Amino acid sequence: MKTIDQFNFNHKKALIRVDFNVPLNEQMQVTDTTRIEAAKPTIIKVLEDGGSCVLMSHLGRPKDRESEFSLKHVVGVASDILGVSVKFVDDCVGPEVAKELSQLLPGEIVLLENLRYHPEEEKGDVAFAKALSECGDIYVNDAFGTAHRAHASTTVVAQFFPETKCFGYLLASEIENVNKVLEDSQPPVTAIIGGAKVSSKITIIENILDKVDHLIIGGGMAFTFVKAQGGKIGNSLVEDDKQELALEILEKAKQKKVQVHLPSDSIIAEKFSNDSKTEVTEINQIPDGWMGLDVGPKTIESFSQVILASKTILFNGPVGVFEMPNFAKGTIAVCEAIAEATKNGAFSLVGGGDSVAAVKQFDFGDKVSYVSTGGGAMLEMLEGKTLPGIAAILE
Ligand code: AMP
Repeated sequence: MKTIDQFNFNHKKALIRVDFNVPLNEQMQVTDTTRIEAAKPTIIKVLEDGGSCVLMSHLGRPKDRESEFSLKHVVGVASDILGVSVKFVDDCVGPEVAKELSQLLPGEIVLLENLRYHPEEEKGDVAFAKALSECGDIYVNDAFGTAHRAHASTTVVAQFFPETKCFGYLLASEIENVNKVLEDSQPPVTAIIGGAKVSSKITIIENILDKVDHLIIGGGMAFTFVKAQGGKIGNSLVEDDKQELALEILEKAKQKKVQVHLPSDSIIAEKFSNDSKTEVTEINQIPDGWMGLDVGPKTIESFSQVILASKTILFNGPVGVFEMPNFAKGTIAVCEAIAEATKNGAFSLVGGGDSVAAVKQFDFGDKVSYVSTGGGAMLEMLEGKTLPGIAAILE
């Protein structure tokens, strides 16, 4: 893997695709700086080598050049985090950019304006990518969040740097960590797949059946499996047209000797609300008018045992409606078991979807081995897809 460590940036301009697509409030202040902090090690390495950084990113989904999507709002916070006063140019290609970049000195950082002000970015336009490529000597892709997009700055631009393109630290560590689950994992390997729907997780499940020893299925999607096996699920979330598929998955898992763990009991509620009346029932005996919103105590016990005995753990999707405190216990218990297993030497990856939000909300971020920074990108990696942004560096 060609990483930034294989290059010396002394007197070179690094053209770095970062993911500064950060949330802004109504006063245009950055409300979460995680993504800027995540790009810092790469930027600092270039500066310490004696190079300069040309940062490019998108922000939101502008239709035109609306000011609310300008990266100028990020400059102050980026300067504070990076410890260097970041310069800004109000375009990403063109004469003004070229002029600013010709004056850039080692140790300096310039942030280009939102790439998506140019529709050519998302179209993957080659001429636009060529113009971008003129902004630097070495291309560094460190934007994992957009690595699944074949855009000009994430993928197409790489062809103009046949010998001088590499992964930044963030993108490299995302690849390394997902490979610890999908390629060189230590058995027993357990995947906890939860969330709302089977349909959004089906490709992941199919891909990981060859890689795991245990598959824990929780969340709303479990009910499609329970119903397909003849259980009574009341008004719980279900995808009736996926019942056949659920049975096929169970059959495939059996053939591949993967042990599937479905919930055995559930916390049920009369309405989809935190203050609903609740009860605990067997998972396959939910009365009409009631819906399962979390896993029950027996399930917590059995899921935890499987997790604690694992050496490699993937957590993708909550096992209940964790946003409501009364239905968060199952997801918290899963986080606790993962944290305990990690403390005992297991490798744990949290990625793709709402499990990242859950782990952060319940403060388990530093008790697991790795929390992925890219939702859609991580999902596609777990689905076994080759991400265009990664392939473009490897080519
Ligand atoms: P995903 O984005 O597919 O990971 O789905 C996450 C969503 O699934 C969260 O918003 C959860 O509230 C929701 N969820 C988890 N369990 C259930 C359930 N039993 N019934 C309905 N929604 C659920």
